[in-house]
Amino acid sequence: MRYVSTRGSAPVLPFDEAMLTGLARDGGLYVPEAVPTLSPKQIAGLEGLPYEEAAYLVLAPFIGDSFTRAEITGAIERAYAGFAHAARAPLVQLGPGHHLLELFHGPTLAFKDFAMQLIGQLFQIALARTGRRITIVGATSGDTGSAAIEAFRGLENVDVFILYPHGRVSEVQRRQMTTPCEANVHALAIDGTFDDAQARLKDLFNDHGFRDEVGLAGVNSINWGRVLAQVVYYFTSAVSLGAPHREVAFTVPTGNFGDVLAGSVAKRMGMPVAKLVVATNQNDILHRVLTTGEYRPATVAPSLSPSMDIQISSNFERALWWAHDCDAAAVSRLMAELGAGGFTVSQGAFEALRELYASGRASEEETLDTIRRTRDETGEILCPHSAVAVKVAQEHLQPGVPMITLATAHPAKFPAAVERATGLRPKLPPHLADLMGRPERITEVANDVAALQALIRERRTA
Ligand SMILES: *Cc1c(COP(=O)(O)O)cnc(C)c1O
Repeated sequence: MRYVSTRGSAPVLPFDEAMLTGLARDGGLYVPEAVPTLSPKQIAGLEGLPYEEAAYLVLAPFIGDSFTRAEITGAIERAYAGFAHAARAPLVQLGPGHHLLELFHGPTLAFKDFAMQLIGQLFQIALARTGRRITIVGATSGDTGSAAIEAFRGLENVDVFILYPHGRVSEVQRRQMTTPCEANVHALAIDGTFDDAQARLKDLFNDHGFRDEVGLAGVNSINWGRVLAQVVYYFTSAVSLGAPHREVAFTVPTGNFGDVLAGSVAKRMGMPVAKLVVATNQNDILHRVLTTGEYRPATVAPSLSPSMDIQISSNFERALWWAHDCDAAAVSRLMAELGAGGFTVSQGAFEALRELYASGRASEEETLDTIRRTRDETGEILCPHSAVAVKVAQEHLQPGVPMITLATAHPAKFPAAVERATGLRPKLPPHLADLMGRPERITEVANDVAALQALIRERRTA
């Protein structure tokens, strides 16, 4: 399996190299040259399998010969062994035809663990093979950071630097990043928004001298390995509701478009997906582009669902690449226009996007109301991101097509919002019960690439 850049002029790489590289050298994102497919019989065969076995069958065709079968199955076993639920991604029913996929039973309580735990294992195997040392730098709107730290803390040949927007993550999210005490973990509070953090991250990658000097690697969802790992739960949840013999739909709380893009990959692989509904909070650029074709970033307004407070949605580039029939020149042009303020999707690409994706938004009031109402009606306590999605999903229910809404974080990661909605403060699970009492290490850094480079050079343990 070969990976090419959405912008067409970076080296073509096998899976392991594309994973270790992160952002392509031409500024684009790696995508599989061709998406492997599963037959209806193979898809039906996933039903009832342990999550780990289903994961192997879905992932292996994308990994090719980058890792042996034993390496892949071992990595998958270790990745999910620490999850607190035997089903890994359990499905609960919210109402007639509406199901909630709980993706928050991993160690850091957000769906990010599904991908980060797995690529953490695969990175270790690949690095042990080459003796290479790397510096991982990640930008986070809150949950990627803790998931990356959990996956890479204490590893010998890896430093992990995480940029989070100062003052714009929940206290639980911040503490999950600032309390781990391993010397290879560096949480940096950047003076700016998540979009600033992600832009500086791209600056670091685009400085090829610095990139090679520190062995830069990326674990944001610009990393194909992240997107790929998330494809699995689209299959396991859909087959448990009757796919491939019937269509299902998904609603996904969306920020950087990595999670919902994984759903589109499941569809390309042959899963009958009627619609992928993109749910946004008041930072609704994705809802706007999917209804008007205009991608014009506005300023970010902090919300109750901070992991979706974003205007520059990196993985949308991969969706555009597919919508343009893999035309890298067209994607490069749009990305250049984005740098100059925004772009308009062509009619043909817009229709291709609309064929697959629907969208909706939830205001702050609607988010709180959905947390309250869902608890009253079902007993399920939603995090604010999941609540945004439940509200939007309820507007997109179709008779005869089960709707699966992704619950992306545990409510205890966002206790203030949940308490405002319900009067109840959700408790952290036992392994994090003392989080609020642990000492923090906070480093503030300017929104400036030279300042970041200096700090990374100084702190690196390599
Ligand atoms: C990261 C995150 C999202 C958004 O996922 P994307 O893949 O960036 O679209 C939604 N909810 C939570 C809780 C998250 O951590």
